[in-house]
Amino acid sequence: MKGRVPERLQKIYLRLPHPLYNCHMPINEPTITVRDDVVRPTQVEINLDRLAENYRAIQQAVAPTAVMPTLKANAYGHGLVEVARHLASLGTPYLGVAFLEEGILLREAGVATPILVLGGILGNQVPLFLEYDLTLTASSIEKLAQTDGAARAMGTTARVHLKIDTGMERIGVHYYSAAGLLEAAARCDHCQVEGIYSHFANSDDADLTSARVQLARFQEVLEQYAQYGLPRPICHMANSGAILQLPESYFDLVRVGILLYGVYPSAEVARTIAVRPALSWKSRVVYFKVVQPGHPVSYGSTWQSDHQVRVVTIPVGYGDGYFRSLSNEALVIIRGKKYPVVGRVCMDQMMVNIEWDSAYNGDEVILIGESGDQAITCDDLAEWAGTIPYEVLTNINTRVPRVYIHE
Ligand SMILES: *Cc1c(COP(=O)(O)O)cnc(C)c1O
Repeated sequence: MKGRVPERLQKIYLRLPHPLYNCHMPINEPTITVRDDVVRPTQVEINLDRLAENYRAIQQAVAPTAVMPTLKANAYGHGLVEVARHLASLGTPYLGVAFLEEGILLREAGVATPILVLGGILGNQVPLFLEYDLTLTASSIEKLAQTDGAARAMGTTARVHLKIDTGMERIGVHYYSAAGLLEAAARCDHCQVEGIYSHFANSDDADLTSARVQLARFQEVLEQYAQYGLPRPICHMANSGAILQLPESYFDLVRVGILLYGVYPSAEVARTIAVRPALSWKSRVVYFKVVQPGHPVSYGSTWQSDHQVRVVTIPVGYGDGYFRSLSNEALVIIRGKKYPVVGRVCMDQMMVNIEWDSAYNGDEVILIGESGDQAITCDDLAEWAGTIPYEVLTNINTRVPRVYIHE
């Protein structure tokens, strides 16, 4: 399938996911290049310039604090390796991922930027962290000891960030028993404790009471460094919600996720930094038909018209991550106008009612994105599907090719 990208697309790179991405730890590049004329018409388009603009806007807003983009879940659906390379080219000082495999994938792709793995780990994973020069999260005294032991056995030093639980009740040592972890960290001779962090549960709310309580708890833990005369490592706590609403929580580094991709974390959050979506999701009309009144459309016959209508078929479905709950709920844009998805969304196809308007095979269909003065946002899809924009983005799976645009 390897082919040349035609000249007119010189600045557009077409990528298909590595077939192993979903089932094994990939050992090579996660993508292969294919000719644009054989790739399926359903594509996710990533505007790398917008990503850069968002990054700079966030960096400016939090300066002199550093920015750590989080690239978990395939960089929120935007493509892990491509996004990491782009951010590295912008000089990002640190990258965050959720899992060891994501870090290894980036190292195998040649990304040399420091990488913090944010998720919980098992002791037997520590040697791989060391082998791939990944920073790990020590979320308990036991895990810190396992890390120190593994590093000693390998004759090396592990780079770790300590995780303090200030109210999320997920991973990390509770703020009220953090002293033991700090003491244990000071005693480790094969761990470099580079950072300490916590995570907000409610920073994207309109009401910041609970976020402020968490922040105060974290600050209390950090005061112990001064008490014991220990040097304070890199401190970080803010996610997108806190970046927008709680400048007091910036410390040395902010961990930005959804905002970097140009999407706000909630409807209530104060939009204090202007960003624009980097991702659009497009397909094309592959079939046109006239449907007679009383002839229901798709599985379960959940929709029918009482008059003759024109219905087009789009080659995208829940097997790509277009939620089945969008059946009879979502709109798409064709020829600059919004039309409803009718009947159940199938695994690989869905139908759109264009009433008596015209559309032709090959016409562009926008699932997420802009066309003239019309737009369908990730927030729209989230609302129609009864979920949050995070899930809309991360649900677009690797069967959908990613196209990178650089103006
Ligand atoms: C995902 C994640 C973030 C980023 O969250 P956003 O709300 O997308 O900004 C920050 N920190 C941790 C620990 C995370 O898991």
